[in-house]
Amino acid sequence: MKIATNNLQTTPFLIIGSGIAGLYTALKLSELDEVTLLTKETLAESNTSYAQGGIAAAVSPADSPELHFQDTIKAGAGLCLPDAVKILVNEGPERVKELMQLGVPFDTQAGKLALTREAAHCCPRVLHADGDATGRQISQTLIKQVLANPRIKLKENSFVAALLTADGRCYGALALDPVGRQHGYLAKATVLATGGCGQIFADTTNPQVATGDGMAIAFRAGAPLADLEFVQFHPTALYLPEAPRFLITEAVRGEGGILRNQQGVRFMPSYHEAAELAPRDVVARSLLTEMGKTGTDHVYLHLSALEPSHIKSRFPNIYETCLAYGLDITKEPIPVAPAMHYMMGGIATDLYGRTALPHLFACGEVACPGVHGANRLASNSLLDGLVFGHRIFAYLAGQRLASLPVPPEVEATLSAETALAQVEEDRQALKALVGAKLGIIRREEDLLTAAQILTPVVLPKGPSLTRKYLELQNMRLLARLMVNAALQRTESRGGHFRADYPTTDPKWEKRLLHYPNQTKFLSATTPFHWNW
Ligand SMILES: Cc1cc2nc3c(=O)[nH]c(=O)nc-3n(C[C@H](O)[C@H](O)[C@H](O)COP(=O)(O)OP(=O)(O)OC[C@H]3O[C@@H](n4cnc5c(N)ncnc54)[C@H](O)[C@@H]3O)c2cc1C
Repeated sequence: MKIATNNLQTTPFLIIGSGIAGLYTALKLSELDEVTLLTKETLAESNTSYAQGGIAAAVSPADSPELHFQDTIKAGAGLCLPDAVKILVNEGPERVKELMQLGVPFDTQAGKLALTREAAHCCPRVLHADGDATGRQISQTLIKQVLANPRIKLKENSFVAALLTADGRCYGALALDPVGRQHGYLAKATVLATGGCGQIFADTTNPQVATGDGMAIAFRAGAPLADLEFVQFHPTALYLPEAPRFLITEAVRGEGGILRNQQGVRFMPSYHEAAELAPRDVVARSLLTEMGKTGTDHVYLHLSALEPSHIKSRFPNIYETCLAYGLDITKEPIPVAPAMHYMMGGIATDLYGRTALPHLFACGEVACPGVHGANRLASNSLLDGLVFGHRIFAYLAGQRLASLPVPPEVEATLSAETALAQVEEDRQALKALVGAKLGIIRREEDLLTAAQILTPVVLPKGPSLTRKYLELQNMRLLARLMVNAALQRTESRGGHFRADYPTTDPKWEKRLLHYPNQTKFLSATTPFHWNW
């Protein structure tokens, strides 16, 4: 689809998404020039707002970037890119300090930062704010700052449907307003900060906005995606029939919460030496196994070792939410089961957030610079958004950007695969399929079934373009790519477990990079590098 340039507005920098990555990068880039930030709902609606546990950084004298590096590499199961992890752990403390300067009220104890230890961290390293409302505090602080910044133009309810491209590079994006009108934004640099894709799965801790749009539109425009088989399932999401799959943060286990099966037996010590604080994939699979053994669909998280006053002050958000569903967690255990939580894969980016498509950048959960490898270390993702948002700023600050480019004609690729009338039904069917076939434990026959069902269906006439319709297309495209990646990796590693290939195979110490017409294999230690 061609778009005439007279339908376009121009802006030096275009940012898409208002989670930690988008808001922070907007603030930084406003130091260089004017910024337009588009987001598909309100500014506050994002995965970031729901983050509970906190943000990891080596800020304590007993800790060091080197220790943080080792923990991250170990969790990543052989596929972290060491150069990217070094950047994350070395630049992380400085970025967290910046958050404090911007006004994020991290919790303190006896005048010092209060730090929690989470699974697979060797020491207390996780800063939190307002107990378990860290994400909300970060989001609100950054929103306050962007609202007060005259160089940042904000557009809420602006759904980005496609990237604008011409001559093999990105010139901005095409957005739909709530009544379906199209608005084009032409920019020197476009930053995708659209977050993850949890909504593809039936059970997820992610909010409704997490439909993987950024990954899908970048892929259609020619930017490859990496590590799509690696999905992190959180072991402990609330399991009450009438409640959403609300996260019960790992910090609850970090502070003494114990998992017991329906017979009241503590089971984690028999699965892993670190028991409740084993890596997330291990805990999630152990829960599934235990649920299978006892023929149930959930287990219980007991907080009896914690003082009620401590539960209320350290986890006020969880306490209040559970109470709203009739569960007093100071008195009763919490029913929990695993749910999709975080996408390790995403748009392949280099160490400055550059994608393969010139002038297109990405940071945060939508991007894959290689810091998480096959499994993300808890509380490293908020940090990832900050650190690589800053790398984009550093790159652009060092560039002499040409005057705003105005190509004769830009192109946006919008796809049509299913009929509009069935969008909601199709969305639910897709989520059920992905939940059943691409879950915590994968098998070839399930993946092949999913791959067959997910074949593109091209209808002769596309329906009118709505946000819901385009989200479904994005979800289908990503589901298809994720299933293909999971089929190709015939081993188990980190967030990808194949029941038919249950061990880790050293010959698979490589990454899969997906282009529209081919998949490439890459060494795990080589950064992506693009020649712009
Ligand atoms: C319940 C929960 C708890 C978590 N706890 C932690 C934690 O304690 N520590 C930690 O490090 N990580 C945690 N995570 C993960 C972490 O929150 C996310 O990885 C991180 O916030 C992602 O930030 P982001 O800015 O990349 O994306 P998001 O915060 O998801 O923001 C994406 C933004 O893009 C917008 N958007 C999406 N598509 C479009 C489109 N097509 N057009 C326009 N706008 C669009 C969305 O509306 C949203 O504003 C948690 C996640 C969840 C769900």
